[in-house]
Formats: sequence, structure tokens, C-alpha cells
Amino acid sequence: MVQPLADFHIHTIFSGHAFSTLQEVICAALQRGLTSIAITDHGPARPDGPKLDYFKNLLRQDSLRLLPGLRVLIGVEANIINSSGDLDVPDKLLSELDVVIVGFHNATGYGGSSRAENTNALMRTLKRHRVNVVSHIGDPRFPFPVELEEPIAAASEKGVLVELNQSALHRWKPENVAHYDSVLTLLEKYHSPILMSSDAHISYAVGVFAECERLLREHGRDPVETVNYSESLVDKYFKRIR
Ligand SMILES: [Zn+2]
Ligand SMILES: [Zn+2]
Repeated sequence: MVQPLADFHIHTIFSGHAFSTLQEVICAALQRGLTSIAITDHGPARPDGPKLDYFKNLLRQDSLRLLPGLRVLIGVEANIINSSGDLDVPDKLLSELDVVIVGFHNATGYGGSSRAENTNALMRTLKRHRVNVVSHIGDPRFPFPVELEEPIAAASEKGVLVELNQSALHRWKPENVAHYDSVLTLLEKYHSPILMSSDAHISYAVGVFAECERLLREHGRDPVETVNYSESLVDKYFKRIR
């Protein structure tokens, strides 16, 4: 059976509201047969998130780079913290990390009050910072709707991936399914490669994309076309490793 190779959006207990250690995440990834993962804990603007030093110290753990059979990338899910598109992680540290995910989250100080303001903030983030992935874009679980088309077009042009988020889809809630169906339609329109993210907050969810795959199939797509199944797309979009 063809299996996914990679999951680039995973949280550990350092995110405060997640449940598994780095070791548990790594064991789960190996058990699932993944060959690449990224550890992407929340940026420090979240009250329960780690401090910046956590990311700097994790980057110093050279033994993490030597695990047989599993490439572990070190990343962050940085928070967009104002309408200028500032992030809660300095650009120097963003440049040192392997994977930079950006998104809106509750309780980070961001207080965008309209769809237009949120869209502009995201557009400025994409313009001003190094970004690999946009997390759960405009997701109805968060109070920060965006116009989808403008940022998806901009992301596509810049080689930034816009994820399908398994945590949003796993209960198959109609409004979340409809939202990600719209995201998928636009990703297709702009010829963007499709990335599935587990957004795992516990090790058992690492590398699980069942409902993302269901959405793809219902959309007439084969999940094996996604970045997660493709060694060449993984290399193209996540080659960076120190
Ligand atoms: Zn998130
Ligand atoms: Zn996340």
C-alpha cells in the first residue's frame, strides 16, 4: 500500500495544550513509516506557547539530525500578531529554522476585526517574511476569516504551500468541509501543490490524513498527488536542513 512519507505540522508538549513529547512524536512517525517530519510548536505570543529560547535550543540538538530513517525538521507555527503582518518570531530566527508555518490564533494579541483586515495582514506577512506554509487559512474554527483567493494566489506565486488541515476535518463538520473544499478549488485554480497537515497535538495523530484524503477523493483527486506522498515535492518544498 502506498503510504504518506511526510507530515510537516506537528505540536509537542511545548505548545502547552498538546500532549506528546518529542520522543513520542518521533516513535509515532517511525511506526507510521514516515521519512520526514517537522516539529512546529506555536510561537511565543500564545500564552501557553514556548519561549523563543526553546526554538534556539532545539536547533542546537544535533543528535536529532542523525536519527536513522527519519529526517526531523525544526520549525515553528508563528503567529501573525498585528495588521502589519508582524510575526511573533524574529526574522533572524525564522531564517535559521527549517520550516516556517504562519497563521492566526486566538489569544495572541491579534485583534483583526474584519475579513479585509485579516486578509491584508496575511498578505503583508507573505510579503515581508520567510514562509513555507500557511496554516488553516480562514478556517471557521477561528474568528479570523480571510478572503481566500488573494493570499492563495500570492502564496502560489511565491512557492508557499497552503495546507489542508486534518484537525479541522477529522470530525467532518459540514462548515469545515465546505471551507476546505473552497481552499482546494483555489489551490487547483492556481496550480499549487497540495499539502496535507495533521496539525497533530498528540502522537497518535501524527501522519494521519484520513479526512484530508476523503476530501481529495470527493473532489476527484488522488491523495498520492499531494506533497506528502511525493519524494520530489518534499525535496522541492522542504529541502532546507541545517
Ligand atoms: Zn494552528
Ligand atoms: Zn498547529
